[in-house]
Amino acid sequence: EIEVRGLHKSFGDNEVLRGIDLEIGRGEVVCVIGPSGSGKSTLLRCVNLLEEPTKGQVFVGGAELTDPDVDIDAVRRRIGMVFQQFNLFPHLTVVENLTLPQRRVLRRDKATAAKVAAENLERVGLAEKASAYPASLSGGQQQRVAIARALAMGPAVMLFDEPTSALDPELVGDVLAVMRMLADEGMTMMVVTHEMTFAREVADRVVFMDGGVVVEDGRPEDVIGNPRNERTRHFLSRLL
Ligand code: ATP
Ligand code: MG
Repeated sequence: EIEVRGLHKSFGDNEVLRGIDLEIGRGEVVCVIGPSGSGKSTLLRCVNLLEEPTKGQVFVGGAELTDPDVDIDAVRRRIGMVFQQFNLFPHLTVVENLTLPQRRVLRRDKATAAKVAAENLERVGLAEKASAYPASLSGGQQQRVAIARALAMGPAVMLFDEPTSALDPELVGDVLAVMRMLADEGMTMMVVTHEMTFAREVADRVVFMDGGVVVEDGRPEDVIGNPRNERTRHFLSRLL
């Protein structure tokens, strides 16, 4: 469902991604781990073309995003993204946060957008907060709204960039539970995270990045449980 081939990305003369190859099959959950500055966010941002790759190809759902002739807006609609900062519209209620992008981007009518919004708020356990404003919600609730908003667009894949890093520890579990539910439902997911328990239990594969390359890519029990590479070992030992 997601394929990255020979991806390079430089900012000026800083080469941040130095040739990434990665495949994520339909329904697969891949966690990306690695030290700060290793290029994890840049990789994720290249996968939906928030950053333009310097070289290489990115495919999502069979369409090549890096093809100059591609309808990038059409492809991007198939990609849901959730950031560390929740990025909700503060002046809109929860339900309006979910209906606005459906109406603007997908041109859904009011009734359909409202129905899809209600279904997805229900999925993340926040149906009763539909009329609330984001500021009145906890960080964990705001992040679940952000996930529901992405889901309401009917994405084929979901990208998460450290979705729980900005949360108080007691709120992390609720967000991870929603992500676990999505994984169980068969959503294709690429998740940058420091949550090793989640990676171990939920991911089909774990990718360890360092210095803009994929150092290790394999089953969680191998990459986290029994890393072969010295750099992976060193990174993991500092997390424990
Ligand atoms: P973290 O764990 O801290 O989030 P990361 O692995 O996500 O780190 P990136 O955010 O991808 O790392 O950044 C990798 C490198 O790219 C860093 O050296 C950063 O300074 C640089 N970088 C990222 N975005 C830009 C940008 N828009 N312009 C210039 N340099 C950038
Ligand atoms: Mg990052």
